[in-house]
Amino acid sequence: MACCALAALPLLAQAAPAKPHVDLCERGQRQSPIDITATHRQALPPLQFDYHAAPLRIVNDGHTVRVRFANGSRLLIGRESLTLQQFHFHVTGGDRVRGEDFAMAMHFLHKSSAGQLVSLVVLFRLGAENAALAALVPSMPPRGQAERVVPALQVDPAQLLPQEHGYYAYDGSLTAPPCTEGVRWIVLKTPLELSAAQVARLKQLFPNNARPVQPLNGRVVSESL
Ligand SMILES: [Zn+2]
Repeated sequence: MACCALAALPLLAQAAPAKPHVDLCERGQRQSPIDITATHRQALPPLQFDYHAAPLRIVNDGHTVRVRFANGSRLLIGRESLTLQQFHFHVTGGDRVRGEDFAMAMHFLHKSSAGQLVSLVVLFRLGAENAALAALVPSMPPRGQAERVVPALQVDPAQLLPQEHGYYAYDGSLTAPPCTEGVRWIVLKTPLELSAAQVARLKQLFPNNARPVQPLNGRVVSESL
């Protein structure tokens, strides 16, 4: 009978209904972004950024502008090591803090060797021009163009982080289909600034790509001391 049980496996796999992406995007219970209101303050592992400059690899897929990294930069959360895969931009910011909607957010997407995704969020308020962004924006390609590689332009992701590394943490998801859950979100508490002209430039490159805030569904947001 062992033969038949084995033979039946592919049939079972076929019979299982395909779960379309919209299921999680519309019915998921642990989705991002959120409005961070009540938090549980506690000692959380410190963040250490082992980020290094790398030659610019940039693409505009019409949804966002994304800068990709090879294996040179890491985020350490306590003893856990995650590799920086890419960062990208959202206008407006997506995650809110006590109702505040931010002008822009950068998502730094990391992956552990076990496949765990960690999205680190840097929020931006309207204010002074951001010098690190100013160096990057002229190289941002128009929508639909193939990935642009500029070996002469070094991008240092550390220049796009605040000096303070206090953070909020919650269990979330990718914010675009397939809205995969099990993504850990780390939102840095200290926002940076960018100018209205820089926001306008990003809006020219891609449309408003922020997903509305999603229900907490009983999730608890941790906050570092
Ligand atoms: Zn994002």
